[in-house]
Amino acid sequence: MKNFPAPARFVGIAALCLAATHASASDAAPESAVDLAQHGADPAWSIVEDLTTEIGPRMAGTEAEAAARRWAIARLQALGFANVREEQFDLPVWVRGEEQAWLTGPFQPQKLAVTALGNSASTGSKGIEGDIAYFESFDALAGASDAKVKGKIVFIDNQMKAAQDGSGYGYYGRGRFTGPNVAAKKGAIAIVIRSIGTDAHRNPHTGVTNFDPGVKPIPAGAISNPDADQLARQWKRAVAVTQPEPLHMKLVLTPQNLGTKHSGNVIAEVPGSDPAASPIIVACHLDSWDLGTGAIDDAAGCGIITAAAGHVMKAATPRRTIRILWAGAEEVGVFGGKAYFETHGKEKHAAALESDFGADRVWRIDFKLPDSAKPVADRIAAAVMPFGVVRGKQPAGGGADIGALVQAGVPAIDLQQDGTRYFDVHHTPDDTLDKIDPMQLRQNVTVWAATLAILANSTDDELP
Ligand code: ZN
Ligand code: ZN
Repeated sequence: MKNFPAPARFVGIAALCLAATHASASDAAPESAVDLAQHGADPAWSIVEDLTTEIGPRMAGTEAEAAARRWAIARLQALGFANVREEQFDLPVWVRGEEQAWLTGPFQPQKLAVTALGNSASTGSKGIEGDIAYFESFDALAGASDAKVKGKIVFIDNQMKAAQDGSGYGYYGRGRFTGPNVAAKKGAIAIVIRSIGTDAHRNPHTGVTNFDPGVKPIPAGAISNPDADQLARQWKRAVAVTQPEPLHMKLVLTPQNLGTKHSGNVIAEVPGSDPAASPIIVACHLDSWDLGTGAIDDAAGCGIITAAAGHVMKAATPRRTIRILWAGAEEVGVFGGKAYFETHGKEKHAAALESDFGADRVWRIDFKLPDSAKPVADRIAAAVMPFGVVRGKQPAGGGADIGALVQAGVPAIDLQQDGTRYFDVHHTPDDTLDKIDPMQLRQNVTVWAATLAILANSTDDELP
């Protein structure tokens, strides 16, 4: 994790705060919610600090995630929200075991920093050893003949680059999302990928992978960026000699499938004054990967949406209900988002928003609203502009946990966060509280409060 120079950071944020005090919205409610967000207590920080300290890692379907739900219910009740409840659902649970890897030849044997991907098969405790089939990218693997892969340990080498909008994740992430499935279909005995991450630490990045029905899962891991560099250098030297020698790897991954277990969504509400008006839904996810304490992914998101909804509630009762969804089991396949849609998908929702991209500042706002809501979008864009948020030109995409709702036509707004350093930490042991900048976290809450106050007071002519 890079520390950014403090003076520049604080001057920047101070300028934003100064500008914000001159912002004026026509209606009183948004102004005072924003005022509370800027200058009042900071429930977002408390949520992130307390959840990561008292619960820590909370893998989907485990006792730790259940403890997190009990913690969440108590906290949301203490914050004064209404209708705080848990909605349970079932899912297949996968847990990590031992994880070790070595380059075993033709050079001097060396240990690698490796972690298993979610849904990886086990190598058994004795591990497996094999020749490496090197691919510079996911596309190279996808286009390779089965003969190049069969009986080998596949390695995918492409390195994700940092971008403010995080857009490299979709492109490079294919190596993790579907690389193992492709390798398994072609007969590989295992796959190891360069981590989908932008840091230079010896921290491998985990994350879920999925095998098609009927495809037998193979052991699947990720190695850190420096370890992937090392592997790539050895590969080049191994193939450069006159009698090319294969590169060998030994891999020990012993994850387990525990069968079907419970998870659940935790839901709370700010009751609106008009019971006939459809609600605004705001989402984050409560589960996390197990390597760190799930601070940026996604305790921060839960802190941001909850603090903002709380500020709107304190400022003045909004017309529409704001429903807060702390989804369970997002990391392993968006089980909570799907369960919410199964239970509530037929209900009307005025708009859906999600925070699941760390805790760095919001820099852009994207809308996907009906034409009738143009005045709402204009009011919101004007209200967030003083905090350095520009209006995007592309439609909002929603987030994982509200994905099914948005797909079904629920209007969406994306408050896009700066993702430049998000993938340094994402799904690694480095996802811990110290990576969160309190000033940027507060900027998020302020922008969310401004947005929610306007949305929750929109008319039935403007939003469904
Ligand atoms: Zn997340
Ligand atoms: Zn995640």
